[in-house]
Amino acid sequence: MNAVVEIPTVDHDAIRRQAESVACPSAISAAERETLVARIKQLLIAQNAVLVAHYYTDADLQLLADETGGYVSDSLDMARFGHQHPAQTLVVAGVRFMGETAKILNPEKRVLMPTLEAECSLDLSCPAAEFSRFCDAHPDYTVVVYANTSAEVKARADWVVTSSIASKLIKHLTDKGEKIIWGPDKYLGSYVEQQAGADMLIWPGSCIVHEQFKAKELVVLRNKHPDAMVLVHPESPPEIIAQADVVGSTSQLIKAVHDSAAQKFIVATDNGIFYKMKQAAPDKILMEAPNAGIGATCQSCAHCPWMAMNTLQNLATTLEQGSNEIHIDPKIRDKALIPVQRMLDFAAGLN
Ligand code: SF4
Repeated sequence: MNAVVEIPTVDHDAIRRQAESVACPSAISAAERETLVARIKQLLIAQNAVLVAHYYTDADLQLLADETGGYVSDSLDMARFGHQHPAQTLVVAGVRFMGETAKILNPEKRVLMPTLEAECSLDLSCPAAEFSRFCDAHPDYTVVVYANTSAEVKARADWVVTSSIASKLIKHLTDKGEKIIWGPDKYLGSYVEQQAGADMLIWPGSCIVHEQFKAKELVVLRNKHPDAMVLVHPESPPEIIAQADVVGSTSQLIKAVHDSAAQKFIVATDNGIFYKMKQAAPDKILMEAPNAGIGATCQSCAHCPWMAMNTLQNLATTLEQGSNEIHIDPKIRDKALIPVQRMLDFAAGLN
């Protein structure tokens, strides 16, 4: 029987209020953009630094990463790229756990971020002390955590996993007869459980962007565009996943836009991904899955407010001042590396 474990000390409303308190960055003029981009390009060279950006960051940052020999991808691939790149400084545009993951894999490098205040609701919903206590209470369980967690939570886990290989890993562990604790995303956990035929103890975290997609409004949009393919990230609720033609990780959804014969797509994930989707298939039509419903505010868009905190301005300041460096206690880092490396080895085995 499925079990969702309540965590009385985690206040999901407070996490949402925290997200809603993040101010949208103000727009900049074309001239300001040009000046900042030129300055950042000089600074990247002067600092022997490379920019790695997540798919959900603003197009300006993704474009800059592309133009400067950097990289745009998901969190683990960003860290992997940083590991292989000769630059001594990695500048990670994304949310804090992504900078930490880069540091876990690259302890010898300096890891900077445009801001250290960019949170993630999945990370916030899984405080290390509570999660650790819960794991301690179930000593015969294998602990699998999603990449969207702090270094401390990773250090308590047996495995780290991304959405691209989660179902395969859980099936692998289930086939071996292992009992599994899954954290922190309850929607991804339920989806994976179903795909892998597993039975897990699931931590009740969620992504504030994906959980807002609206099922009824999606039906209306699909009826209006019956020729559109529906692409859904599995951090979305089951009633959204049930309407998908393709359920997949960010990289898998971009590939679906490129590979599919369809010309129109309704996309249920952060709209930052449109930059890479347009690059992969410039002539195709992309629509956001409805994220707000009736009574929407500008805060209820399909864009993560914490990802949006990464801007050209704070990227330039970080490079100028060497600020916002990621530091992880070496003991935590050594422990966290074990499940991260296990995941990388498992993924390499699949390839
Ligand atoms: S989009 Fe969701 S999962 Fe991704 S960083 Fe933002 S809150 Fe976290």
